[in-house]
This record gives sequence, C-alpha cells and structure tokens, in this order.
Amino acid sequence: MESYNSFAVAQQHVTEAARLLHLDEATIELLRWPQREFSFTLHVKMDSGRARIFHAYRVQHNHARGPAKGGIRFHPDETIDTIRALASWMTWKTAVMDLPLGGAKGGIRCDPKEMSERELEALSREYVRGLSELIGEDRDIPAPDVYTNPQTMAWMMDEYETMTRGHHPGVMTDKPQQVGGTEGRRDATARGGVIAVREACAMHGFDPTRNYAIQGFGNAGQRAALLHQEILGGGRLIAVSDSRGAIYCPSGLDPKELVMHKLKTGSVLNFPGSTPIQRESLLELDVEILYPAALENSITKDNADVIKARVICELANGPTTPEADMILHKKGIHVIPDILASAGGVTVSYFEIVQDSYSYFWDEHTVHERLDARLAKSYRTVQDAVREKKVHPRMAAMVVAVARVAQACKLRGWV
Ligand code: NAD
Repeated sequence: MESYNSFAVAQQHVTEAARLLHLDEATIELLRWPQREFSFTLHVKMDSGRARIFHAYRVQHNHARGPAKGGIRFHPDETIDTIRALASWMTWKTAVMDLPLGGAKGGIRCDPKEMSERELEALSREYVRGLSELIGEDRDIPAPDVYTNPQTMAWMMDEYETMTRGHHPGVMTDKPQQVGGTEGRRDATARGGVIAVREACAMHGFDPTRNYAIQGFGNAGQRAALLHQEILGGGRLIAVSDSRGAIYCPSGLDPKELVMHKLKTGSVLNFPGSTPIQRESLLELDVEILYPAALENSITKDNADVIKARVICELANGPTTPEADMILHKKGIHVIPDILASAGGVTVSYFEIVQDSYSYFWDEHTVHERLDARLAKSYRTVQDAVREKKVHPRMAAMVVAVARVAQACKLRGWV
C-alpha cells in the first residue's frame, strides 16, 4: 500500500482551496504552515524507580479565529508531521463549523498499553508543566485523542489549576461531567455525522432506511451504528469491521447487541448470526451509506473503484487519499468530508468551553438541539459552495473554511 505524508496532503488541500479563492501568496504560505510548534522532552519517574525521557509535541496551526483547539495523542509512532496535519485539519474543522476557535494538536511518543495508571498520570501532569504558559482558555485548549480520555483531561486540568492557583475548567475539554464536562460529548462525533447524512438524504434523495456499513467499530463507529437508526428512523446495518476482521449479515445486525458483544469479547468477530468476511470486502457491499470510522488513508486508489455506497460519511480523520477522492468523485459518490462529518465532537467541546466560562450547564436535549442546528447549517453552506465553485464537497468545505480563516488573518493585519 502507498504511504502518505498526511501533512503534505493537508497542505495540498489548502493550496487548492486558496487558489480557488484567489488568495495572495503570503496568505497561502501562512495558511499552509503551523504558526507555532513546540517540541520538548518530559522526564517521568517510572514505577521501577528509574527516570524515562519522552518526546512531546504541541502544534498550534492557526489562532486567527480564536484560541487553538485540538486533542492530545499518546502513541509510540507519533511524528511531528502527523501532529501538523491533525492541527491543520482542526483549523479547517472549527472554521467550517463557524466556531470561534483555531486549530492545534499535541502528542507524546509513548506506548500507553505498557504503562501503569500512575505512570500515565505522571506523564500527563509533566506534559502540562512543559506547556503551562502556552495553554489556557484564551490560548490553546487541549482535548483527548487516540489513547487519551476524560480521565487524562481531569489530571491535566488539575495540574494546570494547581500551577495557576485558580479555577480554569475551560483549559481542557471532554472532561468528566463531575469536573466541568458537558452532557452529550460521548456520542457527539457520530451524532454530527448522522445529522449530516440526514441532511444529505433530504437534499439529494438518498434513502436512509436502506443498508449501511461501518468500517472501524470503536468510539465513533459504535455510536454511529446506534444513532443511524435512532435519528434516521430506520436502516439496516449489514456489515462492520475492526482491526481484527469484518462480519456480514444481510438481514441486519442489531447495533445494541453488537456493541455489547464488542465490549465483552474485544472484537466484532463471532457475533451470533453473522458471517466473517475479508475486511476489504466490506467496501464492496451494496449499501446506501458507508461510514469510514477507523484510521487515516483507509480508502485508497486500490479499493475506491469497488465501493458501491451512494454516500460516504467520513467519521475518521483523513480516511480518503487524494487519488481515491478523484475516483469517488468520478463515480458520483456523495462524500461528506471529514472536516464536516466528524466536526460534531469539537462543536460540543466548544459548548463545554462556553458552559465552563459561566459555570452553568445545559441539559442533554439543549446540547443535541444546538449541535443539530450548527451541523445542518454547515452542511448546507458547504453544498452552496459545491454549486457556486463547481467543486466536490471536500474542496467546497475547504473553500468555506479557508475563506473564513483568511478573512480573520487579513482583518488582524497579518497579511
Ligand atoms: P477508536 O480507537 O475508538 O476506534 C477505531 C476503530 O477502528 C477500532 O475499533 C479499531 O479496531 C478499528 N480499526 C483499526 N484498524 C482498522 C482497519 N484496518 N479496518 C477496520 N477497522 C480498523 O477511535 P475513535 O475515537 O472511534 O476514532 C476513529 C476515527 O474517528 C479516527 O480517525 C479519529 O481521529 C476520528 N475522530 C474521532 C472523534 C471522536 O470524538 N472519537 C472525533 C473526530 C474524529
């Protein structure tokens, strides 16, 4: 399989959108690159009593529209280029949703599966000590990402508050509700994606009650499985995959039972009534809607041609390579691009910052209602750009986002 530098792909998208907008060269260069990058080392006493050094990063891609916003990953293969790409995507994601935020991402090169709870806490606190002057509700607001979770955010927030001797719950999002988290965050990413699918069906006449399939059955994939039927009033889930394999059942898999099975066994395999299939075969199935919810670069020029779905809702970040994108476009598949389809999570994180700022919390219904309104509006704005600029939806979403960030940079007098 080809290997991709995700940051090069992110930069290519920026350049293309900027050219469509006739932006000047200085603005294009500004938007292609992160405004700030921090690379630092963390020193942690391990349970053995010995110190270990970890390499850590935080990239603030752009803060013209508001404080930089984005998750922190703990991963052994973390590289600065992956972080740069993810930080850049956050800038476009917050902009396409018209949130008053910029884009950032961070990471620590470590293997969390081999670390104890105490070591992970020490690592999280050390990360915040290394970054303390650079983060804050008015500067840069982290969140969880791969192998980090609400508990990580609670430790990080506590360390920040200890250092600054104040109450600053808005410095981190996706916290547990007992320490300033919001209702509705757990399923926000999938909910946003399913709302976008509902809008696509209403606007273009796709049938949400036909079959759907999900590639990647983790947080986002499982929630999408449940919410698809709840929000769209029907639909039959006929195939799902995870890192261990894929299963198929033409008469429909019960999403609730399947989530329980995955929780119990750690995989979707051997779900009663299902047949195992090759992971790649999931893409070839005759479905109305396909949700890629696994990792980057999973739809490539080698498999895009066999996809039969009429709608692809990209819950994963960067699941489609540029060559595959062109193939899907030529086949007339309606792609709801990642920066829109997976923006429900950061939108509800924004709601969390707002609620933390005045210490008054909304009920779940209010969170859902406000997410729905924002997502539906952004979907329609992107479709307007598709018609106006005569481009495919990914480029249209980028055009909307890049135009907003470029305007903010210009108004500030940066370019
Ligand atoms: P997760 O780790 O909970 O789930 C990922 C799933 O993908 C796992 O079930 C894993 O087994 C499966 N997987 C891995 N390799 C696979 C392969 N080759 N084929 C099929 N399945 C495979 O992660 P998540 O939080 O659900 O995130 C999934 C994607 O959605 C990521 O790209 C993430 O960046 C993106 N995303 C998530 C959120 C969120 O709020 N969770 C927000 C925005 C974007």
